[in-house]
Amino acid sequence: MSATSETGGKPVVTRFAPSPTGFLHIGGARTALFNLLFARHHGGKFLLRIEDTDRARSTDEAIAAILDGLRWLDLDWDGEEIYQFSRASRHAEVAQAMLANGHAYKCFATAEELEAMRAGQRANKQPLRYDGRWRDRDESEAPAGAPFVIRLKAPREGSVTIDDQVQGAVTVNNSELDDMVLLRSDGTPTYMLAVVVDDHDMGVTHIIRGDDHLNNAFRQLPIYRAMGWEEPVYAHIPLIHGADGAKLSKRHGALGVDAYRDELGLLPEAVSNYLLRLGWGHGDDEIISREQAIGWFDLAGVGKSPSRFDLKKLENLNGHYIRASDDSRLAELVAERLPFEVSEAQLTLLNAAMPALKPRAANLNEIADGAMFLFRTRPLVLDEGAEALLEGDSPQLLFRIHVALDAAGSWDTEALEAAVRTVADEAGVKLGAVAQPLRAALTGRRTSPGIFDVLALLGREESLARIADHMTKPA
Ligand code: GLU
Repeated sequence: MSATSETGGKPVVTRFAPSPTGFLHIGGARTALFNLLFARHHGGKFLLRIEDTDRARSTDEAIAAILDGLRWLDLDWDGEEIYQFSRASRHAEVAQAMLANGHAYKCFATAEELEAMRAGQRANKQPLRYDGRWRDRDESEAPAGAPFVIRLKAPREGSVTIDDQVQGAVTVNNSELDDMVLLRSDGTPTYMLAVVVDDHDMGVTHIIRGDDHLNNAFRQLPIYRAMGWEEPVYAHIPLIHGADGAKLSKRHGALGVDAYRDELGLLPEAVSNYLLRLGWGHGDDEIISREQAIGWFDLAGVGKSPSRFDLKKLENLNGHYIRASDDSRLAELVAERLPFEVSEAQLTLLNAAMPALKPRAANLNEIADGAMFLFRTRPLVLDEGAEALLEGDSPQLLFRIHVALDAAGSWDTEALEAAVRTVADEAGVKLGAVAQPLRAALTGRRTSPGIFDVLALLGREESLARIADHMTKPA
């Protein structure tokens, strides 16, 4: 689909409209990403609206987590974010305007009356819908001063078809929709009204959101029509499912975006790239930069079926971005995760170690874990695997290694390798048989970066001391 047919040639405005009742989850982050990419692709604007009208469930923590998560993922919005609750009087004003233009009416039905109506519908196995009992009545029929709600006078005949950019044409008969409430008896707007008024006032041209909102579109469109407002283009994107095909939930380990950063140690560009590929494709391309994504993104590329979240794939992608990442940036990020205050000198060491640490890491936690040997103090506490490597002849072997390394002219990887190889040759064993106990003595573990890198990073004095801690002079 060409840009022109996707946008109709007008300046594009998209928005992300999270409800701050919880963290920014992975599905929301993807919705935000698609909105940002679509807007940027068309040179338009990407706006943020916090839908905080549910006062009981909206929290400042959730708002902070959403803003923080979006910024972390480099999903910065244009202008100031808009808070829906602050616009309540504007929403009420539109309800009044609809009352005035005949597209809405006052409904004085009491709660008990409506409950009796629903009970009857339930008994007759009918769908539970407001029956329009005040649609054509005059307010003079209501008791003086009785509370009322304002309801939409929805069309009763015909049907509405939404030409959804992802789902295709979807039609709903108007007979299936009732006259929903726009303004409650306490004067507060309903969610359905608030969304439409805000989207209109913000100039939103394209509404890209989860397909759990598709049904809402059929309730929202009549408000645009009643107000004579230009209708937005809709694109309802399939939700993200877990590996088992069920909608992604906490049961699948679905986490807030902050947990992908803090707990899983992922890089934002990896998460962003993964989310892009989750539900949108560009041929077989897997590694897609933000710039390319902006260049390529289109709604036609969004798949119609739910995508499955796969943490392994995300971690593989993260490994790629770690290897592509600048060492000093990684050192800073890893330093934050170490269990102690990192000094300037330690940061420099971490930086120097990064080329040896990053090739095997899938996340920042693995790098932090792999880097710990650099900062341990003697005598090293050995883990079980390392202890096993230091049994038998190993202490004597370490003694010979110590002698050879001590005699090495310089402390560079070449000289160190030559020295260790000589010990292996003289002992008649393979290099690995020498490298393993050496690794155990130097790092306290059985896995680490290459042993010559370890020696070089620790330096002469520290290396020799760590070896000496575990060696025994041959008899
Ligand atoms: N606030 C809604 C949500 O968080 C989104 C509404 C919309 O995009 O229209 O699910």
